[in-house]
Amino acid sequence: MAARRITVLTGAGISAESGLGTFRDKDGLWTKYPLEEVATPEGFARDPARVHAFYNARRANAAGAQPNAAHLALARLQRAEGIDLVIVTQNVDGLHEAAGATAVHMHGELSRAYCGACEHRWDAPAVMSPEMPCPACGAPATRPDIVWFGEIPYHMDAIHQRLSQTELFAAIGTSGQVYPAAGFVQIARQYGAETVEINLEQTDVAWDFDDHLVGPASQMVPAWVASLIGEDPGR
Ligand code: NAD
Ligand code: ZN
Repeated sequence: MAARRITVLTGAGISAESGLGTFRDKDGLWTKYPLEEVATPEGFARDPARVHAFYNARRANAAGAQPNAAHLALARLQRAEGIDLVIVTQNVDGLHEAAGATAVHMHGELSRAYCGACEHRWDAPAVMSPEMPCPACGAPATRPDIVWFGEIPYHMDAIHQRLSQTELFAAIGTSGQVYPAAGFVQIARQYGAETVEINLEQTDVAWDFDDHLVGPASQMVPAWVASLIGEDPGR
């Protein structure tokens, strides 16, 4: 029998219990840093040092964080017999990988650097600054390899293709406010997938989903994974 095709979209909520702040919750990052200053190409052009400082701080936080039970459960699901799981993440941390999974990073990664002049990519140092030259072309155009608002997310063709073939789609810890990720549920549904939302609360887009599991990701995701692969939820 063919493996069951499952696609999971994760957002900041899956990493919240690992101590990494989400963006839109009441203590979220956007309340302390204006989005248009730290997460747009225009903000970077105006004040690259400020934007690097913001991502240097995010990188340091992420480097000190551990994957939680939700990341670990998804890694088990990815390894399980009879399951073909693709994890698409909006997160720029490396917690899926730290848990032993592979993930498609549609919004880039804190651990990578990108040259705005020649498009070269390399492993980011812990601390980045505007004057840092690109190792390939030497231009001082180094930026974090992060997709900012107004830019096109990575891997969109492959993600769309996958959504069109998926049997089960789950959105975990994402508010459904940032497009195109917020539209994935409709695409999957249109192609016949069953859909489930796993979130601390019912989101504004909850009506797009067939099912809802409401609660913290560290509890809800292991229970959901256990129900899919018949493992003992106590583990
Ligand atoms: P968001 O902040 O808009 O929404 C977070 C969602 O997670 C909310 O719906 C909230 O109810 C839910 N949530 C919070 N704690 C939870 C928990 N313990 N268990 C389950 N759900 C929980 O985040 P988003 O939808 O990912 O927003 C998109 C943008 O935020 C992306 O561009 C992403 O790159 C960026 N972001 C990434 C990180 C990270 O890499 N860790 C952190 C913050 C923001
Ligand atoms: Zn370059």
